[in-house]
Amino acid sequence: MRPQILTPLFADLKELDGIGPRLQKLLKRLLAPTARQGEAKIVDLLFHFPSSVIDRRARPKIAEAVPGQIATIRVEVAEHNAPPRGQRRIPYRVICSDETGSLELVFFHANAAYLEKQLPVGQTRIVSGRIEDYGGRLQMPHPDHVLEEAELDTLPLIEPIYPLTAGLSGKVARKAATQAVARLADLPEWQDAAWLSKQNWSSFLDAVHAVHAPQSEADLLPTSPARLRLSFDELLANQLALALVRRRLKKIAGRVTNGDGIVRQKILESLPFELTHSQTHVMGEIEADMAEPARMLRLLQGDVGSGKTVVALLAMAIAIEAGSQAALMAPTELLARQHLKTLSEFGEKTGIRVALLTGREKGKQRGEILDALGRGEIDILIGTHALFQEGVEFKDLALAVIDEQHRFGVHQRLALQAKSGAGGTDILVMTATPIPRTLLLTHYGDMEVSKLLEKPAGRKPVATRAMPVERLGDIMDRLDVAIGNGAQAYWVCPLVEESDVLDATAAEERFAALKARFGENVALVHGQMSGGEKDTAMQAFAEGEVSILVATTVIEVGVDVPNATIMVIEHAERFGLAQLHQLRGRVGRGSGQSACILLYKPPLTETARARLNALRETEDGFKIAEEDLRLRGGGEVLGTRQSGMPEFRVAALPRDEELLSAARDDARLILNKDPELSEKRGKALRVLLYLFERDEAIRLLKAG
Ligand code: ADP
Ligand code: MG
Repeated sequence: MRPQILTPLFADLKELDGIGPRLQKLLKRLLAPTARQGEAKIVDLLFHFPSSVIDRRARPKIAEAVPGQIATIRVEVAEHNAPPRGQRRIPYRVICSDETGSLELVFFHANAAYLEKQLPVGQTRIVSGRIEDYGGRLQMPHPDHVLEEAELDTLPLIEPIYPLTAGLSGKVARKAATQAVARLADLPEWQDAAWLSKQNWSSFLDAVHAVHAPQSEADLLPTSPARLRLSFDELLANQLALALVRRRLKKIAGRVTNGDGIVRQKILESLPFELTHSQTHVMGEIEADMAEPARMLRLLQGDVGSGKTVVALLAMAIAIEAGSQAALMAPTELLARQHLKTLSEFGEKTGIRVALLTGREKGKQRGEILDALGRGEIDILIGTHALFQEGVEFKDLALAVIDEQHRFGVHQRLALQAKSGAGGTDILVMTATPIPRTLLLTHYGDMEVSKLLEKPAGRKPVATRAMPVERLGDIMDRLDVAIGNGAQAYWVCPLVEESDVLDATAAEERFAALKARFGENVALVHGQMSGGEKDTAMQAFAEGEVSILVATTVIEVGVDVPNATIMVIEHAERFGLAQLHQLRGRVGRGSGQSACILLYKPPLTETARARLNALRETEDGFKIAEEDLRLRGGGEVLGTRQSGMPEFRVAALPRDEELLSAARDDARLILNKDPELSEKRGKALRVLLYLFERDEAIRLLKAG
């Protein structure tokens, strides 16, 4: 349970004064929380930092006010000059004065009644805003603040300015942030006192206050002490959560799994190719891990097309040789079915019994699969999240392989761990996203890592070209020729505002257009189709019955149709670099020459141009990942936007790399001293974990 002290922060935004449904919606768009299914909470405001400041401390007399600068001036209201009726382009002027001169407050499209109330003739007011010189007349167009003298102390002399979204005023954002900050209580200190004083950091409460009340431009820098402290807090929460997961996984006793090599031998004999050196090397590492009594927890990194599936199969074969079972979990049903297809082929040749369990296997069929599983009559169970559901009991699960892990969150990894718990199941996680070192640490903790550095021999580089969308006609013509020569092509349609439904519409429109030209030779898959429809389309494409597959990013990971050699990506400028790399990885998988065409809509932003260039220059996933990290920052590289894994809100990588290693060391020390987080600092650290929503980790503690 989340500690009471945090309750006010996790309340709904509409509990704030002045925030109704309309503003709540705008704030939600502004804060765009990635966790909690996009539901914004007050705590999100706490981590939405000002991006600039306005200094209102200059308090000149009117005659001393400097045009171009912000001034806060005490004036007397002398007269109102409303524009003549119907003359909307002439502003409403309020003439003010003090003993040194006069100042015009200028309002376009004014509401006269409101201004008369706000600035009554003969009264004294404090006005604050930018001074302008308009043909020798001093003006203040649309003052930022108009106050009565008695309200002067409510004027933020140094006003924080928050990043906004269309329709949301700075005033509303500031008021909301102020209220959010006011809801924060003085939390128990979770940082080590010596470390705090060494860094010269204040308490969390003071740091939050400081961040929201910057006194100068310097306070806005990520290197300001207050922001550093908050970054470190977030990184520590992250590292602590990962360390807890890892500890728990390691604590479960492992098992020794030794095979006699017979199944592997059969598999190798039936492969139409030799393993690469990388594949052989990685197999050696996995084999050794499995033979150890400790639990295997290994991450297999291999760029798209590097041949991870065969490695998974051989690893699972070790489990089968030892008389146990293996599970292979894929992030989508599409991929699970594809794995089933590949592995069933091997199954026929080698006697491995393979079955599939996804959300679609229901009722009697599901019951039969589960029975067979429990009796040990299934050697490899392939599936999606459904593998974790209640009632899925293996007879003896020795190895779980998780494919394309970046789509899974920490909680799913925990569920798997719970599932396979008692048997000490070894875990092999495979990811196609080459992960920069820093991100490895933040997303996986200290997992053992194997890498497939080499691609299968005979692969030709994919010829990658960027073209403006005006060339669509040319591309269709060329596609026609290529298809006539037996080629197959993917046609990827753009992401529309991260909405599956809109994606589908875009894909359907393109599908219709391509059909008009290519007739029945085109198939379509998108996220809104049923599993069965997707299968049919994919299968038609995989078996060469259709030449063009129009798709959304559902085909981003894992899909393997070696005969497909053309990849067209529409609105390539809207995709992230890693995503483009994954998509391109769908071609160039066979020995034929492949092409990738990045269609973009000009003009390109600088970042979009950099992305497309990077893609044209290299096919090295590691280089691309580093570049992506540089261009976009952490979470998105791993696709955490989609997976719901919390992103960093304060910290950023690689900027905070040093803090990250300090946080990692600290997390280790903490758990060595107080593994259950039950001592004074440990209890405070639990609050930290809740604050940054790493609660899953707390469930791993005894006294959760
Ligand atoms: P990924 O790492 O992207 O999952 P896959 O396992 O899907 O890659 O392999 C990509 C393609 O390369 C598949 O068609 C697979 O059969 C083939 N492949 C795998 N290993 C080799 C190898 N050693 N030599 C030649 N082709 C291979
Ligand atoms: Mg794969």
